[in-house]
Amino acid sequence: MPLKRERGIALVVTLFLMSVLSALAASLMFLSQTETYASMNYKMMSLARYGAEAGVERASNFLYDHTKYTRPTTSGADLLSLYERVRAASGGVGAARLYQRRCEGCRLELNATERGRIRAAPDDAVIRCEECGRILVRTPDSGL
Ligand SMILES: [Zn+2]
Repeated sequence: MPLKRERGIALVVTLFLMSVLSALAASLMFLSQTETYASMNYKMMSLARYGAEAGVERASNFLYDHTKYTRPTTSGADLLSLYERVRAASGGVGAARLYQRRCEGCRLELNATERGRIRAAPDDAVIRCEECGRILVRTPDSGL
């Protein structure tokens, strides 16, 4: 008779274990998502911190020896408004990498005169593509 009363307990135990395992799996998924967000926050914090430290170092270098270092400019707001204008005018992409003598915004190769002009420009000058008008970002791979 005790066997008759225990009929169906396997189903109940299985359902209970399945619900426990489902809760465990859901919590693991939530944990991995939280880890991703934490990493992203750490990256953004590091970017902001090192950007701020670079600004402070640049300003202190200028104050230390203004004949050797260039004055830090306050053109950040102007550059941002220029970027917003160019971005609105050129389909959502305001800046492009200059990669192997080619603007990656319009994919056109810069001629020798243009490359010479860019090569002679100071590092902090804002260079724009003559064809598409986008702000060009120079890298070691620019081919200048
Ligand atoms: Zn271009």
